[in-house]
Amino acid sequence: MNHDIDVKKVRTNCFRQSKVPGEFMLQMRVPGAVIEAKHLKAVAEICERWGNGSFHMGTRQTLDIPGVKYENIPEVNRYIKSYIEEVDVKICDCEMEADDYGYPTIGARNVMACIGNTHCIKGNVNTYELAKKIEKLVFPSHYHIKVSVAGCPNDCAKANFNDFGIMGVNKQVYDYDRCIGCGSCVDACQSHATGVLTLNKDGKIDKDVCCCVGCGECTLICPTGAWTRDPKKLYRVTLGGRTGKQSPRSGKLFMNWVTEEVVLGMFANWQKFSAWALDYKPEYLHGGHLIDRVGYKEFIKHIFEGVTFNPEAKVADDIYWAENEQRSNIHVMPLSQHKHAGPQESK
Ligand code: SF4
Ligand code: SF4
Ligand code: SF4
Repeated sequence: MNHDIDVKKVRTNCFRQSKVPGEFMLQMRVPGAVIEAKHLKAVAEICERWGNGSFHMGTRQTLDIPGVKYENIPEVNRYIKSYIEEVDVKICDCEMEADDYGYPTIGARNVMACIGNTHCIKGNVNTYELAKKIEKLVFPSHYHIKVSVAGCPNDCAKANFNDFGIMGVNKQVYDYDRCIGCGSCVDACQSHATGVLTLNKDGKIDKDVCCCVGCGECTLICPTGAWTRDPKKLYRVTLGGRTGKQSPRSGKLFMNWVTEEVVLGMFANWQKFSAWALDYKPEYLHGGHLIDRVGYKEFIKHIFEGVTFNPEAKVADDIYWAENEQRSNIHVMPLSQHKHAGPQESK
């Protein structure tokens, strides 16, 4: 084992230490999970020239290349300069020092996304475009934050398990005259969503707007175009979701029916908020824990600074986390050991 290895330094360049002494795994960012296919040739080249010939699809949608020897890291950093410049600087407009090689920080993790409405019929928004704009606001930075964007509340992007989980939602518009009362939307909402539609005595639709999640299943199924998507792109944002051993949890509803301007306005404050919360002394602390540390009410004072909300926007007054959920479940007794009800047989 080479004791001169500076693990911290190469980690900053997005190289993860391997169980094989002296080897590292490069994690190449793919904001929004879409890149031009030509970049895959460069990935193959790195795998074969400096890696162990294999490739791992990162769980956060990074392109992971294991088996890179410590001494080859500077060369790999030089090689990926053009990739970083094209993907992060040119496409996402991230600000980086022109003379630097390799990733400047590992802080904000790759912004994930499902394929969204460029492909998926259920998608309400273009996830990739939003992910790129978020990337610019959170990267590079030393603050650890995880963001994922889903095109609709189906949440294939597992946004619920990120510090900020963003889902495209849509206010569906109902045309009374076009509705023929077939009931298909009622069934679709019942089977695939929240069951908020009913057919009334006039053969028209009533909707419990409170529980509509804005998915668009009603619009997709309607044979007459009585339901249509409102052109206004809106988002639901969950907060504080995470994985991990200590206190994994699903995010809680934070904002609903907000515009892209609100989402981006909030992210524009993230780095400033993190610096303040850490008393201007960068420390390795997961974004969700940072919010826990200052408390939700204090967090929103900072994160919404200068943000103007659209008229439909809703924001949680408070959020009640259930930190003990996971811990109590860990100690659940197996069913086989449960005491049966009624008189117990003596042994
Ligand atoms: S989250 Fe929605 S838009 Fe994204 S892939 Fe899944 S169904 Fe499609
Ligand atoms: S699917 Fe369309 S036409 Fe049928 S009940 Fe619903 S809104 Fe009316
Ligand atoms: S958009 Fe609302 S009404 Fe339509 S299917 Fe989804 S939850 Fe139901």
